[in-house]
Amino acid sequence: MTRYGPDEYDVLIVGGGGAGLRAAIAVAETDPRLKVGVVSKVYPMRSHTVSAEGGSAGVIKSNDSIDEHIYDTISGGDWLCDQDAVEAFVNEAPKELLRMEHWGCPWSREPDGSVAVRSFGGMKNKRTWYAADKTGFHMLHTLFQTSLKYEPIRRYDEFFATTLLVDDGRCQGVVALEMATGRLHTIAARSVILCTGGFGKAFRFTTNANIKTGDGVALAYRAGVPLKDMEFVQYHPTGLPFTGILITEATRAEGGFLLNKEDYRYLQDYNLGKPAPQPVNRTMELGPRDRLSQAFEQERQKGRTIKGPYGDYVHLDLRHLGEQHINERLPMVRELCLKYEKIDPVTQCIPVRPVVHYTMGGIDVDINGATCVEGLYAAGEASCVSINGANRLGSNSLTELLVFGARAGRAAAEHAKQAKPFSAKLAALARDEEQRIEETFCKSGEGKTSGDSIASIRETLHHQMEAGAGIYRDEKSLQTAKETVLELQERAKALPLQDSSYTFNTELTAAMELRNLLELSSAIIESGLLRTESRGAHQRTDFPQRDDENYLKHSLAHRTEYGATPRIEYAPVTITKWPPKERVYG
Ligand SMILES: Cc1cc2nc3c(=O)[nH]c(=O)nc-3n(C[C@H](O)[C@H](O)[C@H](O)COP(=O)(O)OP(=O)(O)OC[C@H]3O[C@@H](n4cnc5c(N)ncnc54)[C@H](O)[C@@H]3O)c2cc1C
Repeated sequence: MTRYGPDEYDVLIVGGGGAGLRAAIAVAETDPRLKVGVVSKVYPMRSHTVSAEGGSAGVIKSNDSIDEHIYDTISGGDWLCDQDAVEAFVNEAPKELLRMEHWGCPWSREPDGSVAVRSFGGMKNKRTWYAADKTGFHMLHTLFQTSLKYEPIRRYDEFFATTLLVDDGRCQGVVALEMATGRLHTIAARSVILCTGGFGKAFRFTTNANIKTGDGVALAYRAGVPLKDMEFVQYHPTGLPFTGILITEATRAEGGFLLNKEDYRYLQDYNLGKPAPQPVNRTMELGPRDRLSQAFEQERQKGRTIKGPYGDYVHLDLRHLGEQHINERLPMVRELCLKYEKIDPVTQCIPVRPVVHYTMGGIDVDINGATCVEGLYAAGEASCVSINGANRLGSNSLTELLVFGARAGRAAAEHAKQAKPFSAKLAALARDEEQRIEETFCKSGEGKTSGDSIASIRETLHHQMEAGAGIYRDEKSLQTAKETVLELQERAKALPLQDSSYTFNTELTAAMELRNLLELSSAIIESGLLRTESRGAHQRTDFPQRDDENYLKHSLAHRTEYGATPRIEYAPVTITKWPPKERVYG
């Protein structure tokens, strides 16, 4: 591998999804003289943001209010959200969404021409802006085309960041692998923003794209930044059983029903709130994701789900909506069902099961995206601000990318203007990284037991995470998962590759991704093991109650060393005006 002399930037963004592109635009808008780099392991339009379907939340209608959006978010997050962050988020959301409109985002309209909004789970008013059921595609396109007009933004497409360059207590850039050539580049920057997305790929059944392996979260963790609230992993109640492909919550917002094997709307038996009149039922199918996924699991235990080759499932029924409505509001859902399940939702029920969808936890940042390492920022799903608490409400994430991407961009720009010169050691640090990669992945022998492979380690991890740290957990299941992940980390200590090519060596990137997932899984498990209560997406069958006295606090996982258990500390939750209450829907 050849090293290049450092490319130098004021602000370097790792990640070309919604958060990364919004941050890049914010830097360019703050000061056009600043040089901005965007490193992305895939071409930006292939980032996971592109697959978001349902919509993006922000108060716009006169029958809605800022306070109600704040309250829904805090209560949806089971009071683990930092309320100052939620207030900033909800206040800035409508401005960001309008700015997207001005940049060309084709929001769907009401018949009178105003912006259309739809219901979403856990939101008591309609406030989710959408572009049919391709919202993420249109938002990412809008951000991408807007970023193109700023001369100082330079992109490194298909470059894989392997480490952060931290010296003198400051983050000063990254080392990135140019995937087309196998060359390692040293990219120096006065500020770095990690916008690398979540890590749902630690689990077997997930809506997440293969690229969602939490690389940036692992980079920050290795650089000494604690990971916040890692035990909270969101299951979405409606994914396709085999592929995990998401069937958006918009299907239920438009009036879809969930039926068990007796064709019964089983959610009426669960404490999600009172059934409301048709066609748009605001509780039942539109309860929050954690509660709906838990209800599925309880139905399964009662033997009332349908058995399939890829596990149990229930039916999502859209037939009563009619062909015209489905084509107009849910065209992608119909397309996905026809292509991947060979069924037509106009005439047939869709098989669905809960699938891992979103990681509430991530890099511990303040309200401006700053971490505890000088010059290092994070935004988007990789970060934990925290506005999502113990359970994110659908459609808050896309807006979070805009609000906190922009905030992190502005803060990183200000930092870059005052930063000290680069330290002399960056080239030496980059050489160390080259050596680490060669020793871990390129030398044969050491640490590899016969039959070991990336695929077999990953498969064991997927099964173990689902079995041990899934919708319901207890001490025994988490302990078993912990022991397995420790063993897997040992097996992955060295992962010699069979492919020695320099051109698009996807075996090398897969090996690095796997090690990242293993480190993050161990943080998920340990944080879950020590939180002996049930809150939001973290449901302990051995501790079924929420325990505000002992656990109304954020967990912070600190890395000790590779293959060792993280150290868990705690930090207080910021409560401004909304003291903890019971979560009630209906
Ligand atoms: C199927 C699906 C549907 C969803 N629908 C909705 C919805 O309707 N509403 C809503 O609010 N939320 C939705 N979400 C959640 C939301 O889309 C995501 O949380 C959000 O898009 C994440 O954006 P991001 O910018 O943080 O990261 P991503 O869009 O995931 O982008 C990550 C970027 O980081 C780069 N990257 C990662 N690792 C590296 C590395 N090592 N080196 C270099 N680059 C790297 C990638 O190339 C990519 O550009 C959905 C999620 C899924 C999976």
